[in-house]
Amino acid sequence: MEITIALAGNPNSGKTTLFNALTGSSQRVGNWPGVTVDKKVGKLKKYKDVAVIDLPGVYSLSPYTLEEVVSRDFLINEKPDAVINLVDGTNIERNLFLTTQLLDVGIPVVVALNMMDAVKKAGDRIDTEKLSGLLGCPVAEISALRGDGLSDLARIAVETAQAQSKTTKSAEASLAAAPAVSGGRFSEPTETALRALAELIRAYTSPETRRWYAIKLFERDEKALALLGLPATVAAEAEGLIALCEETLDDSSESIITGEAYVYVSRITDACVEKVQVEMSASDKIDAIVTNRWLGIPVFVAAMFVVYFVSVTTVGTFVTDFTNDMVIGGGIQAPLAEFLLSVGTAEWLTGLVVDGIVGGVGAVVGFLPQLLILFFFLAILEDCGYMARVAFLMDRVFRKFGLSGKSFIPLLIGTGCGVPGIMAARTIEQRRDRRMTIITTTFMPCGAKLPMIALIAGALLQNAWWVAPSAYFLGFASVVVTGVMLKKTKPFAGDPAPFVMELPPYHFPTASNIGHSMLERASAFAKKAATVYTLASILVWFASSFGFDGDGAFGMAQDLNSSVLYYIGNSFAWIFSPLGFGDWQPAVASVMGLAAKEDVVAVFGILTSIGDADAAFSLAETADMAALAPVAALFSGPLAAYAFLAFNLLCAPCFAAMNTIRQEMRNPRWTLAAIGYECGFAYVVALLIYQFGCFFGGRGFTAGTAAACVLLAALLFLMFRPAPKYKKEHPHAASHS
Ligand code: GDP
Ligand code: MG
Repeated sequence: MEITIALAGNPNSGKTTLFNALTGSSQRVGNWPGVTVDKKVGKLKKYKDVAVIDLPGVYSLSPYTLEEVVSRDFLINEKPDAVINLVDGTNIERNLFLTTQLLDVGIPVVVALNMMDAVKKAGDRIDTEKLSGLLGCPVAEISALRGDGLSDLARIAVETAQAQSKTTKSAEASLAAAPAVSGGRFSEPTETALRALAELIRAYTSPETRRWYAIKLFERDEKALALLGLPATVAAEAEGLIALCEETLDDSSESIITGEAYVYVSRITDACVEKVQVEMSASDKIDAIVTNRWLGIPVFVAAMFVVYFVSVTTVGTFVTDFTNDMVIGGGIQAPLAEFLLSVGTAEWLTGLVVDGIVGGVGAVVGFLPQLLILFFFLAILEDCGYMARVAFLMDRVFRKFGLSGKSFIPLLIGTGCGVPGIMAARTIEQRRDRRMTIITTTFMPCGAKLPMIALIAGALLQNAWWVAPSAYFLGFASVVVTGVMLKKTKPFAGDPAPFVMELPPYHFPTASNIGHSMLERASAFAKKAATVYTLASILVWFASSFGFDGDGAFGMAQDLNSSVLYYIGNSFAWIFSPLGFGDWQPAVASVMGLAAKEDVVAVFGILTSIGDADAAFSLAETADMAALAPVAALFSGPLAAYAFLAFNLLCAPCFAAMNTIRQEMRNPRWTLAAIGYECGFAYVVALLIYQFGCFFGGRGFTAGTAAACVLLAALLFLMFRPAPKYKKEHPHAASHS
């Protein structure tokens, strides 16, 4: 018979570390049915048929956040055989709050007291036997990071789970066991009320879950009560009991439970934990500098500069160029083309395979070495505990416009490449904040957009110094505006989760954690290159290589002007007219930009016969205005060119990043909403820039100006209207009305 053990604990208690250590390589990551919260399942090492399920990190089992609901639904509905409750030993008092709630659920709990290495190092002492006695459940000391005590923990958990699956067969046994395990935690009046409520709902509950439901009934937890479906008479009787207790203790039932649980927890910690009062630890000393109000940000900028300098400019560029030119270009493409032609493959087929598939996929895979280096550094910064500090530091800033500090890291990584940036949003545990971050990450100009910025600046804006910084400013401003606007809509309403993350003490990163994290990110990237990107490359290659010749016959196109792409481009170029670039070339460039943002430059290069992307880019870098004149001729002027730039910076990212959005949203509707929002927002911004630019440039008031005024007014309204009140923001309102 298969045994299921759930892993529950606060965020940052070491769940991921423990889960990886317990399950080794057998894990699968999926989705909880119907919701986009990570579901990790693995097999317990060295035991047959024991599944370990990693529940989302939560501070309690209240019904207010999605993670909490997912966790408690799983415990109540799926009834795992045991719960391993990970408790951070360095922060035992906060962590035990969840423990008390888990004990109430009626599933056997094994407390895994984690970070014992840190506890011992600090010189603190925890009396685990006493703790076990007071809680009424086994307690195992472990260090997930070092692997200490894990086999004992696994054995105790399996034994507990097996004992459980035997006793459930006899309801009597667990009925007798239940109160002994979890009774007597609250004050006398509360316990009396709970006993009476438990009696009242006897017919509607099983013995194991009776106390849990009694507590939930007492708290007037609507979500839990919906499951019970009590008749009105019983509910009314329960209400009487609750009101009586509330009167006796002069508090609302929900805060009675919370308040008394805290009292209980601090009684336990007082009895079992002996903390040494030390002067500042090394970790605290580092934090005094790193999270300092004034020094924090400069230190961070310096750290990031080093990471980017190494991974993007020096070593990174070197390995990327090497892979692109030597391995993919010289090592694969050239010999492959030669081989295919020599065995008599048709020219178009050779083109498709060599340029379309290998070239297209290769361009993405060519990024991989660089990304690996970036991932390596980021994994180190993350694992040693620094990223937690950065998020903490940025929280002060980001909270002002409705994002949490954790959104900062994806944005930062997004300036290199949107793909890992979007993936980095995974660390944000609250779903609505994660979605918002995914939507906004690619507003930041990524590395692939830089050639486009250089080209436009060089061709039409006299290579003005402000163009590149303005792109970053525009990106960041779009994040802020979006944050402010969306926070006032229902799906995003509510403050970002309070930043209660514990800052774990610094420690040396472990090779296995870093390996894991690099591998996870890199394989997600490689998978994408193999699927979506291949398809996109093939499509784009076909559209740009085939077309109608002068006689209307279909075949290999002579040039882009007779390609299918030309016709496609012309069919929708009008859409961009209000933005100032309604010709087919910029329209096609924008669409090709969806395959890869570098393609924007490539399209201009080909269309103006300047040469390929490399040639166009080097011209742009030298800002040779004369040589770039053909590009300039595609636009009506600098204003239209800047609007074009703004649109392409902010609109949907490349296919690779869009696919990452799809993977991370794990929901088609949200994926479409995200991409649609990005395109719509880009359109509005570009339109505002172009139309107001024209108006202030002396064109006079036109229909376009009127449209811009309306859009601006709408934007300002959405930003500055008072936040509507949504029920979500007042979790307690229902229980008091
Ligand atoms: P999660 O948020 O619960 O998944 O926690 P993680 O597994 O990501 O761990 C949070 C931090 O605590 C990471 O930096 C871990 O390396 C660190 N950590 C986990 N277990 C231990 C441990 O036993 N001892 C120490 N010193 N650090 C640990
Ligand atoms: Mg985790």
